[in-house]
Amino acid sequence: MYSRKKPLEEIPEEVTPIWSCTNDGCNGWMRDDFAFEAKPVCPLCSSSMVSGTKTLPALVNHTSRQ
Ligand SMILES: [Zn+2]
Repeated sequence: MYSRKKPLEEIPEEVTPIWSCTNDGCNGWMRDDFAFEAKPVCPLCSSSMVSGTKTLPALVNHTSRQ
């Protein structure tokens, strides 16, 4: 019997647009892709959010963008 253990796949990282919370005491942020409003509010503390970027593992997008 062979061990079928697959080596860990490397997940490529990419700079991803995100929204981050403006509240200094809060680490809330979300991917821009998951923000359903033009100006989302923090899901943790309901403060306003500012757009920025974060280096995150790339999401495999199963839906066509075209
Ligand atoms: Zn927050």
